[in-house]
Amino acid sequence: MCAMKVFVPDYYAGFRCIAGACRHSCCVGWEIDVDSETLKRYRTMKGPLGAKLKRCIDPDPEPHFVLSAEERCPFLTDQNLCEILLRAGEDALCQICADHPRFRNYWSDRIEMGLGMACEEAARLILTSPHPLRLVPLSEEREEQPEIPSEAELALRNHRDRLLASVAETGPAARLREYLIYRHMADALYDGRIAQRTRLVDRAFERITAGWDGQSGSDLAERARVFSNEVEYDDEKLELFLSETEGDSIDNV
Ligand code: SF4
Repeated sequence: MCAMKVFVPDYYAGFRCIAGACRHSCCVGWEIDVDSETLKRYRTMKGPLGAKLKRCIDPDPEPHFVLSAEERCPFLTDQNLCEILLRAGEDALCQICADHPRFRNYWSDRIEMGLGMACEEAARLILTSPHPLRLVPLSEEREEQPEIPSEAELALRNHRDRLLASVAETGPAARLREYLIYRHMADALYDGRIAQRTRLVDRAFERITAGWDGQSGSDLAERARVFSNEVEYDDEKLELFLSETEGDSIDNV
């Protein structure tokens, strides 16, 4: 039996959280849910960290870290480092913290992962990639069995790959468009809205690049980060953004 292969962009392995050097830490402003496995582990932890974990997790409605008045994670130190990671190691992180800023798209025969641009370091890495998107297999494989993709799924993937192939070779704007295609088109697997998602890619690109001088990669990364933070990571806003594309006409879908 063969296992499910996982593919990632070739820049993926170069991602490292820049922690204390990050200007827009994901540990500020976002309420972070704690998964049940990690919660069980936290409940067994002793000492000052165990006591603080008990104090700083609110079980309702879903277990989550209680943010400070400044909306900081209670485990974020003054140096913007993670106290849980410092004291108990990477393995002690809850699933969301260990995963961020990664995303996954589940095809029938493969899983594709990527880095989301809400993270400023991921945005920098993606936009400075010197060549078009290249997917490489990750050594990790998944236990799920791959299945044969349906005709509809293959048509979607072909459409996605044609969009990717139409992107310019170089430049941060090209890498941005690729990212949007790679991130959003696969979601049509779940709702079949290929035309709307194609238009979403165009609209998101237009919105991010409106007013951009066409030169500064760091400015574009910041614009992409803000969009990702405000829209991509907010299901309601993303759905609203998507529904705004419903009336738009689409060619070549
Ligand atoms: S936004 Fe990215 S670089 Fe910044 S703290 Fe989070 S994972 Fe690290």
